[in-house]
Amino acid sequence: MASPLKLSIITKATGEPAGYDSSIISVPPGWYATVGGERALLAQSAGRFLRHLSEQQAADLGERLHHAVWTITGDKAEVRTLGLMHDCPTCRAGVDQALACLAAHPGSEVAVGQLWWA
Ligand SMILES: [Zn+2]
Repeated sequence: MASPLKLSIITKATGEPAGYDSSIISVPPGWYATVGGERALLAQSAGRFLRHLSEQQAADLGERLHHAVWTITGDKAEVRTLGLMHDCPTCRAGVDQALACLAAHPGSEVAVGQLWWA
């Protein structure tokens, strides 16, 4: 399995972030291609998707995106650490769901987003 990969989404926002949240999605198979017999992440597709998703999630909460860092990983401990930026019921439910998904699909990965609001 590929080592954890981080994709940063930056914006023109300046100053300190005003708040944050986390988000977890399963990684669509379309983000991968096989290159020379190795599985490779199509970072450009993933980056485009995650930028749109980050901005959408900010808008849904009435916020504006400052920046986001998405970690693509199948490591359960990492999902738990990154997914619980604040220990709220929504984040806990998201992490539980992601861990169940990873357990049910060995070798799969999720993208854990840490999103900061402007
Ligand atoms: Zn939360």
